[in-house]
Amino acid sequence: MARYVISLIGGDGIGPEQTAAARKIIDAISDKTSTKFTINEVDAGDAALAKHGKALPEFSIDVIKNSQACLKGPVGESAADVIIVLRRMFDLYANVRPAKSYPNIPALSPDVDMVTVRENTEDVYLGWEFNADPNTIVALRITSEKASRRIAEYAFRAASIRDSKRKVVAVHKANVLRKSDGLFASVCREVAKKYPKIHYSELYVDAASMNLIRNPEEFDVIVTTNLFGDILSDEAAQVVGGLGMGPAANIGERFALFEPVHGAAFDIAGKNAANPSSILLSTKMMLDWLADKHEDRNAKEQGIGIEEAISSLLRQGKKTKDIGGKLSTTEFTELVLKRMFSY
Ligand code: ATP
Repeated sequence: MARYVISLIGGDGIGPEQTAAARKIIDAISDKTSTKFTINEVDAGDAALAKHGKALPEFSIDVIKNSQACLKGPVGESAADVIIVLRRMFDLYANVRPAKSYPNIPALSPDVDMVTVRENTEDVYLGWEFNADPNTIVALRITSEKASRRIAEYAFRAASIRDSKRKVVAVHKANVLRKSDGLFASVCREVAKKYPKIHYSELYVDAASMNLIRNPEEFDVIVTTNLFGDILSDEAAQVVGGLGMGPAANIGERFALFEPVHGAAFDIAGKNAANPSSILLSTKMMLDWLADKHEDRNAKEQGIGIEEAISSLLRQGKKTKDIGGKLSTTEFTELVLKRMFSY
């Protein structure tokens, strides 16, 4: 029997509805299988800022530090003060965002199965912006060989274990950002030499964003820098039917945080209208990560069970409103639960 301590950030907007859905599934896995969870809720985000004067108070950080993984709902205006801080604090260097076609969802192609591996610690996200003079701002974009190599290695390892096309494309803009993206590209090229069975290519970010629309099924693993990865992964999510289906993982050497790609979606908050698939598929990624780390076969199977339940519901046209269905967040979650445990 395996037992894991998970920290859970409810977040803002649709965050609490999303995490309630994930919690139902995690609690059911705990009740009915050999993989057990203790879930510790964490105060973070806009609501925490209003209540405690800090979007990520020290006591919240302590709860996260004492957990084995964190599952996070989207945070609103204070997102940068939560997620960017956590990514840096736990050195969560790889932002992994799969985009996959699921049955019966309006998508640009029915055969997309790709993942964006985004460098998560550098680029413009360090927030170093300065006034050069009163009317001019300079923003620093950081690129190091170490971070480039680490993310390239991660991407090639991911491509090696995916049972798909075995391709890595490095996306950059080295024709303009000659030094910074030049370094990123040359490191990717070097790492590629160690993986002769993986097909390696490069695309400028403008061409990549166009090809994602033109022939998205051609992509397997995209490895890219932080800002380009942020933009391309939202685009990829839209290509396969929208943000409601988009999970993400922030992976470090010892810790990982899982969250939907989307933001707090205040326009539909409190209406029981959000698609919980994004956080349920993020939960699947968490189970996968824990399973690999702890050789926990049951955790892996439960993760597969979540994805299979979602696929089979979609195949039958049982969908939430964002993807053309009628079901509410809670109705869809209940059906996932029934499908997983056949009751
Ligand atoms: P951020 O800037 O924080 O990334 P945003 O305002 O750009 O957020 P999101 O909150 O990510 O945008 O979502 C954009 C729109 O997509 C929302 O307004 C909402 O209508 C829709 N959306 C996002 N997530 C979901 C979901 N899980 N279910 C249904 N619709 C969603």
